[in-house]
This record gives sequence, C-alpha cells and structure tokens, in this order.
Amino acid sequence: MNRKLVISLLISVAFAGACQTVETTKGSAVGVDRRQHMMVSSEAVNASAEKAYQDVLAQAQKQNALDRDAAAVGRVKAIAGRLIPATGALRPDAPGWKWEMHVLSSKEVNAWCMPGGKIAVYTGLIEQLKPSDDELAAVMGHEIGHALREHGREQASRAMVEQLGVGILGAVTGVNTNLAQTIADVTIMLPHSREQETEADRIGVELAARAGYDPRAAVSLWQKMQKLGGRQPPQFLSTHPSNDARIKDVEQDAAKVMPLYQAAKAGGTASAGK
Ligand SMILES: [Zn+2]
Repeated sequence: MNRKLVISLLISVAFAGACQTVETTKGSAVGVDRRQHMMVSSEAVNASAEKAYQDVLAQAQKQNALDRDAAAVGRVKAIAGRLIPATGALRPDAPGWKWEMHVLSSKEVNAWCMPGGKIAVYTGLIEQLKPSDDELAAVMGHEIGHALREHGREQASRAMVEQLGVGILGAVTGVNTNLAQTIADVTIMLPHSREQETEADRIGVELAARAGYDPRAAVSLWQKMQKLGGRQPPQFLSTHPSNDARIKDVEQDAAKVMPLYQAAKAGGTASAGK
C-alpha cells in the first residue's frame, strides 16, 4: 500500500465514529431541508466554538472593546431574546443552547454566530448601516441560521476531508486548538458556500417573521450592505456577497413568511419592530 492510501485508511477509521448524515433543522416554512454530511461531532465543534468565543471575548476585553456601547448591547440582547425562542420551530433543542451575545467595538462591519449560539455584533455594523430593529433582526437571524444549520461544523468537516492527513486526526476527538481555530476561521473570516448562504438567508427571514420582526427588512438590509461595497468593501461583504440576485431571493422568501409575521404580531407577545 502506498503512503497516501495508508493515511486515507487511518483517517477513515478515525472518522468512522463521527461520520454521519444529519438533518439539522426540520419543518422550515421556506424549504430548507438539505441533508448534511458531518465528519466531526457537534459536541466537539460546540466545545471548540466555546473556546474560540472565549478567546475573542478575552481579546476584546484586553482592548477595552467588549460591550462598551450600552445602547447597542441592549438592542442586541432584546432582539436575540425574541429570535432565540423562535428557533424552536426549526430545531427543538436550539432554545436550550447556551446562547451568548456580545457587542464588540470595532470599525468593521461584521456580525456572526459561532456554533452552539455564540453571537457577536460589531459596532461598525450598527454605526455604518444604521439598521432599524427589523434590519438588525435580519442580520442576526441570518447568522443564527448558520448556527442552526451547523454550517461551521459542516465546513470543518469539509476542511478535514480536504486536508487529509495534515495534523487533523486530533481534531475529531474533542476540544483542541486546531478545531477551535478552524471554527473561528470559518465563522469570522472565511466565506460560507453559496448554498449555506441561501439557507441562512431563508432561515433568517423565517426566524425574524416568527419573532414578530418584519421579514421584508432583510431586503433593505442587503440593499444597505450593497451600498457599502465599492473599492474597500467591509469584511462582511466578502463573506456575504450582496447582489441583485440575492436581494431578489430574499424578497421572495420574505413574501412566503408574511403569514408567520402577521400571526406573531397578532399573537401580541411580539410587537413589531421599528
Ligand atoms: Zn452568512
């Protein structure tokens, strides 16, 4: 046997326990039902995400950039407080996750949600986009959509397949710095696949609607993002390309979930955002 084959076999054995096809969310009103192949357990990914998140927070704390903007923190917590219960319709386990949300002072236009529900919103996004609550709910719903669909775990799984043999065997066994770094990279720096972006867009408008936020705000949100483009587009735009096709899709998705929005508003527990 040649060396490559031996390595492949070793990896197959190591992955045998973790490799599985999963259905991360169910019953979506916007037709997200793709089955996903995972090479690493959600427990390992979530533990690594927890570590990566704590690292980000510690770094922000050191730079005096953690939760400095009380108004922004209040908005983010209030919106998360309505979006998180809405996740139960798609994933019954999600409302019970150890959700955390923090605001990072940074000029960058960015927001993300690490696996397991670790949210960050950057002040640059709030200052530059001046989002309404509905628009901020659209961004946060999109990012939460990535977490519900376990896109970080899926990307880490793909990275493992692509990097056969490159110091990855340790990554399948639990918390380890390689996996934590991979999770940080795929959450903060690297683009998701187009397919994952579409799923997050769809889940995002659905969550917003179920939480009583106007799902059509996703359209104006992406239009604002698009205007920020140009010669030096913010990082968020490099990971979330905003274009006319995307905006059109989001418009159609929002139309589909309008009944959920109206029902949420009529329910009285969720008032419409600004
Ligand atoms: Zn995204």
